[in-house]
Amino acid sequence: MTRHFLIFGPPAAGKGTQAGSLKDHLDVPHVSTGDMFRAHLKGETEIGLQVKDILAAGKLVPDTVTNAMVAERLAEPDTAEGALLDGFPRNVLQASWLDGYLAGRGTKLAGVVVLEVPDEELKKRLIGRAEKENRSDDADPAVVQRRIDTYREQSEPCIAYYREQGLVPVHLIDGAGTVEEVRARIQSSV
Ligand code: AMP
Repeated sequence: MTRHFLIFGPPAAGKGTQAGSLKDHLDVPHVSTGDMFRAHLKGETEIGLQVKDILAAGKLVPDTVTNAMVAERLAEPDTAEGALLDGFPRNVLQASWLDGYLAGRGTKLAGVVVLEVPDEELKKRLIGRAEKENRSDDADPAVVQRRIDTYREQSEPCIAYYREQGLVPVHLIDGAGTVEEVRARIQSSV
């Protein structure tokens, strides 16, 4: 049985930050599709060129491109025993693709961590992050709103999908407060 976990939540909920300590807690590599796409952009790869405008607009990259990238990453030796997926799945089709992919390897998800943060707080955090990290998809209020809407409309239904399936523990975590407070909540729950 492998140990594949998800950290799930809206943009700026603290997924990336919390994944940094959760991956150590779980002792699995961190696999962030957002980081992978940004690396492709920077490296000006074929995928990078393909997704540039999509990321800038705050839309989702097509599932075929994303799933293929994830399949390739999860086939690498360091993730043979498991991984902490961050930013994937982003919609129910990706979630069901992931189930099939893991089933094909004779395994299934071991846990889902959901960070919950209200929209107003997310907007404040995203604007702050744009100033600090120079991320263009965080800077434009219309793009920020689009990414939050995309999460609520397309990604959030994955939580209901997992809960209805009832096959994997879903841990709902209050994402408000300091990084340490949220970390403590996650680690006492997972
Ligand atoms: P993130 O860093 O997770 O917020 O991802 C940054 C951007 O990468 C998103 O706004 C999407 O454009 C793209 N992206 C990341 N993960 C996915 C995914 N699972 N499916 C589609 N697009 C994604």
